[in-house]
Amino acid sequence: MSFEVMKDVAKPILTGFGITAKRLGRKKVTIQYPLERREQYTRTRWRHVLTRYDSGLERCIGCSLCAGACPARCIYVEADENTDEQRFSPGERYATRYEINMLRCIFCGYCQDACPTGAIVLRKDFELANYEREDFLYTKEMLLEPIREMA
Ligand code: SF4
Ligand code: SF4
Repeated sequence: MSFEVMKDVAKPILTGFGITAKRLGRKKVTIQYPLERREQYTRTRWRHVLTRYDSGLERCIGCSLCAGACPARCIYVEADENTDEQRFSPGERYATRYEINMLRCIFCGYCQDACPTGAIVLRKDFELANYEREDFLYTKEMLLEPIREMA
């Protein structure tokens, strides 16, 4: 092999080593997920939660505005009247059924923006992987936040 050919082969290899050496001292950009997690942006929108008032009553009044605003048509709501004997929300109505098909959701947050009571919110839980298609149909029971213990 001639000297000129050897020079052509060695040059990119040495350039590569040079780039590697230059970056050795720098802070790593990769992290050991899932042992380490990055801080998320404050306006991150991931998994939906149906929230409650401090009293424990559900914020959702079953109005379906979220379903109407959803561009992916992945929210389904059925509503009924509260009674004095059975009260779920402070208003007249509550959602008897609330479902989100997470396989269709594009996490745009329009449902959150459309909700008049702040019931549906997208929070920071992003680990939504699952094995079966039916496990991506989130029911009201899965979405509703647990009743907080009063101090
Ligand atoms: S985040 Fe967007 S796509 Fe997902 S349920 Fe809400 S409105 Fe629909
Ligand atoms: S989550 Fe909000 S917009 Fe959707 S049905 Fe309930 S109250 Fe209405």
